[in-house]
Amino acid sequence: MNQSMRVSSGSIGRTEELPDPCFTGAVLGVGERSARLPRTPPARAAALAAPLLALSLAACAPANRVDASAPPAGVSAAAGPAAGASAAAEATSARLQWRGGPTAILERDGLRLLTDPVLGPRGPAAFVLPKHPSTGVENAPVARYTDPPAEPLGRLDVILLSHNHADHFDAVAKETLPKDVPFVLPPDAAEAARAAGFTRLTPLDWDSETVIPTRAGRLRILAVPANHAHDAALDATLGKGNGYVLRWEGETPYSIYWTGDSVFTDPMRAVAARFAPIDLWLPHLGAVGVDGARGLRTMDAEEAVAAAALLRARHVIPIHHTTFGHYREPVTAFVQRAATKRLPAHIHVPADGAWMPLPR
Ligand SMILES: [Zn+2]
Ligand SMILES: [Zn+2]
Repeated sequence: MNQSMRVSSGSIGRTEELPDPCFTGAVLGVGERSARLPRTPPARAAALAAPLLALSLAACAPANRVDASAPPAGVSAAAGPAAGASAAAEATSARLQWRGGPTAILERDGLRLLTDPVLGPRGPAAFVLPKHPSTGVENAPVARYTDPPAEPLGRLDVILLSHNHADHFDAVAKETLPKDVPFVLPPDAAEAARAAGFTRLTPLDWDSETVIPTRAGRLRILAVPANHAHDAALDATLGKGNGYVLRWEGETPYSIYWTGDSVFTDPMRAVAARFAPIDLWLPHLGAVGVDGARGLRTMDAEEAVAAAALLRARHVIPIHHTTFGHYREPVTAFVQRAATKRLPAHIHVPADGAWMPLPR
């Protein structure tokens, strides 16, 4: 069904041009533009003429280092555009399809991005975690409760990866995704992607950016810290992952902050200080881990509502909940806490497989 659920309403002021105080223009690497980019001749020519630039933001002010739930009560349905839209419709569309867990397709200005591909079917052992984050059991199989949408992934222009954990980049994805799609990922995940056969890697360390031409302007993909735990030693053990701030530039700028597997830390506060207000926030929820701030591996409702407030997110679409057995907290916990705290953001909880417009 093509529908989403709008849960709460409120407004926090209109958009403004997002500042880019840290643009240094230093070219780190250049790759050829994807032949899969715009199809209409003028836009395609413009896209092909512009190189894909990886721009260092190292000179920027560093970040201050430092079970399947039922739909929430009281939600209303809002229709989205039809799935399987024509190429013409796709060219002007701005929409999102959540495909379960951390996996989503983002479509805007003619670009289609796939996030954290987890493509295997439902079953009691969708993947095996070396150590279960909540129980500590070693080599723990984790269930997937729902099948991925039947609709094919379609054309992909960019794959975006937060980190190389099995619940974010599974065996089916490694095997079946086309290997020549530009692939943006953390440096620590590059070896695994290369071993799986992917050939067009753009590893981005924290505070590095790649810029991709679009029909309407360009898309900046900035890697930002994703801290998998509050405990520094545990965070290091779990590996260095990325979140991404995506900024579409052109006549109608738009910003998305996709957190990756991160708890609410000072680096996330730094993202807020630099980029708020965010048009759309895609937090990875689920409260994976154990109770207590040090035990969390992804945000719980309390952290996510606090972060959303700081980010002044206009819209929130929670992901990384419901689909898999290691998620501990239903998405309703976030929805309810947001209501209790009077979070002035629109929260949307699309069904997996449903397309919804990128909200403004
Ligand atoms: Zn992870
Ligand atoms: Zn995860």
